[in-house]
Amino acid sequence: MTTPTLVAQIRKGFRSGTLASFALDVEIDVPPGITILFGPSGAGKSTLLDCIAGLTRPDAGRIASGDAVLFDSEAGINLPPQRRSAAYVFQSLALFPHLSAEDNVSYGLAQLSAAERRACTVEILESFRVASHGRHKPGELSGGERQRVALARALVTSPRVLLLDEPLSALDAGVKFEILEDLRGWNAARRLPILYVTHSREEVDALGERVIALDHGRVVATGAPREVLDAPRRLRLAQAAGFENLLAATVLELRQADGVMRVRLETGDAELEVPLAHAAPGDSVRLAIRAGDILLATERPSGLSARNILPGKILSLEPRSTFVTARVDCGATFAVHLTPGACRGLELAEGQNVWMILKTHSCHFVQE
Ligand code: ADP
Repeated sequence: MTTPTLVAQIRKGFRSGTLASFALDVEIDVPPGITILFGPSGAGKSTLLDCIAGLTRPDAGRIASGDAVLFDSEAGINLPPQRRSAAYVFQSLALFPHLSAEDNVSYGLAQLSAAERRACTVEILESFRVASHGRHKPGELSGGERQRVALARALVTSPRVLLLDEPLSALDAGVKFEILEDLRGWNAARRLPILYVTHSREEVDALGERVIALDHGRVVATGAPREVLDAPRRLRLAQAAGFENLLAATVLELRQADGVMRVRLETGDAELEVPLAHAAPGDSVRLAIRAGDILLATERPSGLSARNILPGKILSLEPRSTFVTARVDCGATFAVHLTPGACRGLELAEGQNVWMILKTHSCHFVQE
């Protein structure tokens, strides 16, 4: 069974004495499956979820799931949260502390017989792998188990949409990804529209079928995770998507026939060949480049298709858990990610001269 797409057109403004005014103005579709809502802090993600859930009243707009209209400012419809069938789970969502996991989950099933309640509860606790904790109270569960019970409680009532606001952000990566897998498994057959807010690039990669990117209360991009986050067109989105190198540059020359142009970095005088964009010689532009998209070599490489080979010097090498960050000065400072094995194999050291190699299409244009 597939639940209909949730369609929301929402306008909501906040004006406050101390806070800057903020306006949300969006039109989104949340089809069956998982849609990630991504964007920097303050973009309006929680406000959007609150409007769908009925916790915040939009100034104008319409929210509907198939024939069910949850909000329509023109028709004067504004269903209260309990009549919207919108399940909402956030990080700090408290389970009832005095009730067992089973009683927390069956709480919303008052209309069913005792036998039916128990059957539904056990089935969903099994789906989220916490059936063996059915008799435990929240205080006796781990953080991950509590969020599993919270998901089970939200989903047992067969909502028409599931809203998740960074529900797993406090959990370890391993626990988080196991829960995401179970959520995806649970939803594979049901095809409920799920709107999932996260800041985490890893969660987008693990979960996302679709991404809606929000900034300053507007939808700035929609599409597959790679399209939206690997080629961001907005600076703040590039920052949120974890692009480590954000560089100012000046356009030198357009080569229309090759689909490329040359730019000079504003710091230092290194030049790069980058994809052609709507720009003219002399324009100031911004580039976003992932640290993991840059290669290092200890000798000048030859016979490579990559168009950008820049000499530089290693300023520092900083080991992280699964990679090493090299800071390389070539007039401007670049962050480059290498595996610890590559770093050892090349015998890299601080102060060493190296060559940085960048593909043209690893250089993405962004707007302020
Ligand atoms: P996000 O979830 O993307 O971090 P929010 O939706 O929480 O963003 O907030 C978006 C903007 O709306 C922020 O600038 C915030 O200060 C403002 N905002 C949210 N709720 C209120 C409110 N009740 N009154 C005034 N401003 C608010």
